[in-house]
Amino acid sequence: MSSRSETCNDGIRISFEFFPPKSEEAEQQLWNTVADLSDWEPEFVSVTYGAGGSTKAPTLSAVRKMIHETPFTTASHLTCVGATREDTHRVIDEFLAAGVRRFVALRGDPPGGVGSAYQPHPGGYANAAELVAALRERGDFDISVSAYPEKHPESRDTAADIDMLKRKAENGADRALTQFFFDNDAFERYHDRARAAGIKIPIVPGIMPIQNLTQLKRFAGACGTSIPSWLDERFDGLDEAVEERARVAADVAAEQIQDLMRRGIDEFHLYTMNRSALVSAVLERLGLQRKVDARAGAAA
Ligand code: FAD
Repeated sequence: MSSRSETCNDGIRISFEFFPPKSEEAEQQLWNTVADLSDWEPEFVSVTYGAGGSTKAPTLSAVRKMIHETPFTTASHLTCVGATREDTHRVIDEFLAAGVRRFVALRGDPPGGVGSAYQPHPGGYANAAELVAALRERGDFDISVSAYPEKHPESRDTAADIDMLKRKAENGADRALTQFFFDNDAFERYHDRARAAGIKIPIVPGIMPIQNLTQLKRFAGACGTSIPSWLDERFDGLDEAVEERARVAADVAAEQIQDLMRRGIDEFHLYTMNRSALVSAVLERLGLQRKVDARAGAAA
């Protein structure tokens, strides 16, 4: 990676990931979060899509509302696992009718969950690279794909992961968004190997501000993200200390981003978990200005 000589927040680009709400309360929380985070003017936001189409209706409804009622440039995630090509194209048609022109194209986890044996649908797309090619044939969309700095749990090795990322890039992906990670050295090694393999698309680190360490460890175990011992140490003894825990969580994510910036990265995808306070605290620590603050500053 190229190196930067100073910690500089100018020119940093951010995107936010949300998931579709499953209840009225969750719906209210999502839209409150969206309203709060819109002041940060992300490059784009994305809404996840349950593998096998399990969240098709709520994902569609959320992306439609984001496209038509918020200032966000919005991407919909899309998976192809367990679907025929025709099924996948019917879903793409529904997203296009809702105004979607950006996709995060994914294979998706097998029905048994991460790590269970994956069988491509006999009449479907076998992996995300094939889905990217199909989307490219359909139109001039902006397409993001996944990347795994610590290797996808199903992969033989990192080389297999890099091969798959290369196929996705060659088939027309515009950028890769990574699985969340806390080991910046692992990201840098992966990034360097991808560049050495001729992959030129941006590889955007996925940053997970830690809302709940116990829950995060469950996710991390399932998706192959390592939890460094220093993370446990930072949160040690804070189970009951809500405010201190939130402060540490914001510090940890901001420090991770600042370290990646020193390594030459200026684009970050934040997993919001549909909550705004911690994400905003991270961005404040980076010295980013909310749109309203920037306007007030200019008027002063
Ligand atoms: P691919 O890119 O096709 O493959 C991923 C890796 O797995 C490859 O690099 C390859 O090395 C390995 N691999 C794949 N198939 C095989 C095989 N048959 N044998 C051996 N190795 C194999 N999931 C959702 O359900 N909905 C979402 O909205 C969603 N959003 C995500 C967003 C991001 C940024 C990321 C990083 C992941 C997301 N996921 C989502 C999770 C993703 O669907 C799973 O990780 C899934 O298991 C793989 O999908 P993929 O598109 O990464 O697969």
